[in-house]
Amino acid sequence: MSKVFCEKPFNHNYIHTNGKMRLCCTTIQDIPTDNNYNLFDASKHTIDEYWNSNRMKEIRRKMIAGEKIRDCERCYRQEEQGVESLRSTQGMKNYIMDTLPDGTHQKSADTMQIQLGNICNLKCKMCSQMYSHMHGLETLEIGRQDPDWLHWVKEHGANVNNWTNELGVKQEWYKNKETKLKIFEHISKNIKHLNVIGGEPTLIPEFYELFDYCDKQGTLGGKSVTLVTNLTNTNPRLTQWLPKLKDWTIWASVDGVGIRTEYIRYPSKWDKIQESLEFYRSILGDNGNITLSPAIQLLNIDQLDDIIKWWIQWCGGELNQKYGFTWLATVWYPLICNPNMAPREWRLQVAEKLSKYKFDENYENIIKQLRRDHHTPEKYRELQTAFIKYNDKQDQFRNVKKTWRQLLPDLEQSIIKEIK
Ligand code: SF4
Repeated sequence: MSKVFCEKPFNHNYIHTNGKMRLCCTTIQDIPTDNNYNLFDASKHTIDEYWNSNRMKEIRRKMIAGEKIRDCERCYRQEEQGVESLRSTQGMKNYIMDTLPDGTHQKSADTMQIQLGNICNLKCKMCSQMYSHMHGLETLEIGRQDPDWLHWVKEHGANVNNWTNELGVKQEWYKNKETKLKIFEHISKNIKHLNVIGGEPTLIPEFYELFDYCDKQGTLGGKSVTLVTNLTNTNPRLTQWLPKLKDWTIWASVDGVGIRTEYIRYPSKWDKIQESLEFYRSILGDNGNITLSPAIQLLNIDQLDDIIKWWIQWCGGELNQKYGFTWLATVWYPLICNPNMAPREWRLQVAEKLSKYKFDENYENIIKQLRRDHHTPEKYRELQTAFIKYNDKQDQFRNVKKTWRQLLPDLEQSIIKEIK
C-alpha cells in the first residue's frame, strides 16, 4: 500500500477558519493560486477555481508517482511514530483512473470540512487565536499587563500557542452574502460527507442557515454530517434537521473528567457538558451517533484510562456503531502541550498507570511513545521551562479554581527537578 498517497486531494474540500483553502485539517499549508504568490481564499475564490489549480494538479501528480508532499508531513510523521493519521488510501485505484496525466481530477469532491471562522466561547489550553477569537483576546489582555510575556509568546509561537499576528480578530469570511450563497450551493449540490467545525459552530448563525438552505433544496437526506462541538451550547432547532440527514455524528470535544476538562477547556462547565451529551443522546434516533474526541495532551494524559472508562460507562458499557471514540484530536502542536515533552520519570510513571488498562492499538502506541525520549536534554529543558512560564501566567490571569500545579502535583515536582 502506498506510503504517500492520500484520497483527500481527490475527494475532499477544506476551508480553514480564515477562509484559506487547504488539503485537509491536518496540514498547515494553504494552497497558492496559479500566480504562486496569493493564496486561495473562500471570500475571493470559488471551490471550483482551487480544485484543479496548478498546485492541486501538482500534488495529485506527485502522489500518483509515489513522491512525498510537503503539505502532508504531519501525517507521515505520525505514522512513523506508530500513531493513526488521517491519511487514507481507500479508493486509490478509482481516484487515479479519474485523474488526467496533468493532475486534473475530473470529479468534484464529495467530502468537505468547513471551519466557520474562529468565533468561540472557550480558551482551551492547546488552542490559539486561529480557532478561538476569545483565546486571542485573552492573550492580548495578558500582554497589556505584561508586554514582555506577550513578546515572549510571539517569539516562542510554535512551542507555546501556535501564534498568529491577528490576536482578537474575528474570522468571519462567510458573512459576505455572495460567498455564503456560493458555498451553500456547492455543499448542497456536491457534498455527501460534511464536517462542520469552528470556532464553535453552534454559536454561529450561518451554521443553522446552511442546514436551512439544504433543507429547502431537499438535499439533507443524502448527507452525512459530523458536527465538532465543545458541548457548551445546544440549539433545539437542530432537532428539525438532524433526523432528515442520512446520518449525523457529534464529535464531542471533552478532554477529561470533571474539573480537568473544565481546566483545559476553560471556562466550560462539566454539568453543562453532560447536559448537552444527554440532549444529543435523546435525539439519536436511527441515524445519530456520538463519538468522543478528546484532545489527548500533557494536561490529561495521566487520566487517559479514566476518560475512556468514563466514556464507555456513559455509552452503556460498550462502544459500538452509535457510540465511538477517536484519537484524531491528539495534540501534537503547540509542543508544550504534547505529552512527550514531560520529564522521563513522570512519563514512565504515567505509562505504568495506563498500561494496567487495555483498550486498543492506538492506546498501546501512546504508552509506547511515553516510554521513548523524543528531544535532546536541552530541548526538554526549553519546552518544560516554557510550559511553566506560559501556564503559570494564564492560570494567574484566569484566577482558576485549581492551577496546573494543583491538578498535576507529580508533574510539577518532576519538571522542577529536571530543569534545576
Ligand atoms: S496525508 Fe494527511 S495531511 Fe496529507 S492530505 Fe492526507 S490527511 Fe491531509
